[in-house]
Amino acid sequence: MVNHSGVVPEWMSERKIGWAGAIPFVLIHLLAFGVIWTGFTWPSVIVGVVLYFVRMWGVTAGYHRYFAHRTFETSRVFQFILAFIAMSSAQRGALWWAAHHRRHHKYSDLEGDLHSPVRDGFWFSHMGWIFVKGAEETDFDRVKDLQKFPELVWLDKYFLVPPTIVGVACAFGGVEMLFVGFFLSTVLVWHVTFFINSLTHVWGKRRFETTDDSRNNFLLALLTLGEGWHNNHHRHQASTRNGFYWWEVDLTYYVLKLLSFVGIVWNLRPVPEKVLAEGRAADAERKAGRKPAPVEERGRLPKGALDVPA
Ligand SMILES: [Zn+2]
Ligand SMILES: [Zn+2]
Repeated sequence: MVNHSGVVPEWMSERKIGWAGAIPFVLIHLLAFGVIWTGFTWPSVIVGVVLYFVRMWGVTAGYHRYFAHRTFETSRVFQFILAFIAMSSAQRGALWWAAHHRRHHKYSDLEGDLHSPVRDGFWFSHMGWIFVKGAEETDFDRVKDLQKFPELVWLDKYFLVPPTIVGVACAFGGVEMLFVGFFLSTVLVWHVTFFINSLTHVWGKRRFETTDDSRNNFLLALLTLGEGWHNNHHRHQASTRNGFYWWEVDLTYYVLKLLSFVGIVWNLRPVPEKVLAEGRAADAERKAGRKPAPVEERGRLPKGALDVPA
């Protein structure tokens, strides 16, 4: 790839795949298939379903809406718990995840975006990008606001601790619990999370004419607990909710709202009335068969995330 924009670091434009890094990823997939031999017990299915929902919630409320976008506030203790729950899905550290995601918003579907299905196709944006040599590093310049918490930096370094604890706990429940409850549910959380990168920029409807190709997709919103409203999110990434209107189901937001009633999280950022009105106008335009006016504004990233070197 030609590095013409001046914002793409060398490792990213080279895109050399580190095959050794893919070995654990492949192994976990093979272990998920182990259920064919172990079979399942009903408790193992229940644990698998619970771990799917809890960890998917951790990915969306923790990695995404808290660490990457800082759309609400919480205590230092619950912040750590959020990082732990998210990281138990084995998607590396919260700082690593947030740094990559902030880059995605800054360069969405442009050359500096490491996972754009529009530019690089389905498989690369779904999971190929994870194995690019250099992508395993945490870009601390993008997460200066999070770097000031030593416990998060520690957890980012020892990112295997949370999934190992959950995996070992499952193993105590028996072999079915380990394979169905942990390995299979982990792989499901992975691919549904990856759908946000691979599918929500190609499959679904656009409401806002954002500068990227993001879409809204009801089915993906159900599977991902609200992240399927990705076009809304690209229009206004600073709000806690991704489903902007009552019919846009956003389970992550509902749980955060409940947690705010008991004081565990607070200052959930609303969708500004101006953006809601703009959305209603855009829906009306599309209904009339016209394309709404383009949205040039890329939305606000948290302090410390913008204008950092590529
Ligand atoms: Zn985002
Ligand atoms: Zn996106």
